[in-house]
Amino acid sequence: MLNSHYRCVGVGCGPSNLSIAALLHGQSAVTNIFFDMKPEFSWHEGMMLPDTSLQVSMFKDLVTLADPTSRFSYVSYLHQHGRLLPFLNARFEQIPRLEFADYLKWVASANENIHFGEKVEQVDFNGSHFVVETSRRRVTSENIVVGVGISPLVPSFARANLNADSHFHIHEFAKRPQRFGGRRVLVVGGGQSGAEAVLDLLRRTGQEEPSEVIWLSRRENFYPIDDSPFANDLFTPTHSNYFYDQSPEFRQDFLKRNVLASDGISEHTLREIYQRIYVMRYIEHSPMRVRLMPFRDAQAVMRAGDAWVLKSQHLGNHAIEEFSADVVVWATGFRSTDYSFMRPLQAKFEREEGEIRIDRDYAAVWDGPSDRNIFMLNASRRQRGLPEPNLSLTAWRSQIVIDKMLGRPRRPESSDDAFVNWAASSFAEESVPV
Ligand SMILES: Cc1cc2nc3c(=O)[nH]c(=O)nc-3n(C[C@H](O)[C@H](O)[C@H](O)COP(=O)(O)OP(=O)(O)OC[C@H]3O[C@@H](n4cnc5c(N)ncnc54)[C@H](O)[C@@H]3O)c2cc1C
Repeated sequence: MLNSHYRCVGVGCGPSNLSIAALLHGQSAVTNIFFDMKPEFSWHEGMMLPDTSLQVSMFKDLVTLADPTSRFSYVSYLHQHGRLLPFLNARFEQIPRLEFADYLKWVASANENIHFGEKVEQVDFNGSHFVVETSRRRVTSENIVVGVGISPLVPSFARANLNADSHFHIHEFAKRPQRFGGRRVLVVGGGQSGAEAVLDLLRRTGQEEPSEVIWLSRRENFYPIDDSPFANDLFTPTHSNYFYDQSPEFRQDFLKRNVLASDGISEHTLREIYQRIYVMRYIEHSPMRVRLMPFRDAQAVMRAGDAWVLKSQHLGNHAIEEFSADVVVWATGFRSTDYSFMRPLQAKFEREEGEIRIDRDYAAVWDGPSDRNIFMLNASRRQRGLPEPNLSLTAWRSQIVIDKMLGRPRRPESSDDAFVNWAASSFAEESVPV
């Protein structure tokens, strides 16, 4: 039977909250329920293209960094499905994203505390508990864990003209593949998603083959992600804690300087694009026209008969160019969500750099009682750094949140997970005795 009061209510159930739900599963100390508005679990299904890979290690799954013995680990998933040895023999450099999506779905389906098809419409506070209204029920809770992800971002000048057939954000790319056949397709955005869309278009044949692919990026070249060991040292608890302790100005500059540690293109995707163009041009003599256009800033898009005309400025000599296309795909990233379901609480939160300010344990800093918390997951890149929107530290973050809900003392911060001494050493440690 379902309760009406919980110690933890989760809003949204993508990987961030799925991790919390998995780590809480089977223990009674934190009664919990999670709601997701989707009819069933899916992970970015509009961008789930064949032959794409996860950009992090399989050990950065929902649980392993917090509890390597959990039955919800990726290894456990492979074992349960009878494919652990074939998986090892396949020796993937990076695991297929479609398989990871299936793993996430498996974790969600094994947890009776997760409810799909149920949108959280409002969260309020009645002086002692949070009151959560969903599309189906009303419950109260001592803690809320917000894991609603991020929203598609399209430049403001393009928003009014969006449509499902010929002018849309990349998160809808995989739907209705037939809309590209015989058409000129313009992809805007030089990150991993834009690269995957371009590669997918170049691989299409027959009825689904575009007549032209144009790839436009603001960056000066199509840059690879920095996946080197010292870049990965930025995705450790040590660095995230160090980052949290810095000034807002330092943090913003840091994120700009290190953007390619999280937002570049996988090298194998770049190589596949280059090789595909080679094969098309010199071996297949494909009629498809391919135009690669980096260092251009898209500035306007307008309808011209049945086509779109995109106006851009070259960032070298500032020349204005125009590109004509039948389909325009915006691979221009995501922005934070507006959290409109928390409207009654908005005035109670402190803010920092446009984000809800969080404490060290990911709890929103607010003017309510200190034993009533709203945890913000994947909502504080400007406070917690590069790993926040991706999977790298998901399980570690979940453990911090669970510890706080249980009233456990904060675990001592160790710097053993990073090789680099990110923080300044104390004077006493470095000084030479006289
Ligand atoms: C195509 C793609 C590939 C990626 N690949 C990687 C990768 O390889 N490695 C990596 O580290 N990161 C990757 N990422 C980053 C990715 O954002 C995270 O991995 C992850 O999806 C973030 O999880 P989340 O739970 O915070 O948000 P989401 O996955 O967006 O989930 C949020 C959930 O909240 C639900 N929701 C929203 N509002 C409400 C409401 N009011 N009521 C109920 N439910 C609600 C939504 O339905 C959704 O299910 C990728 C992202 C994309 C788009």
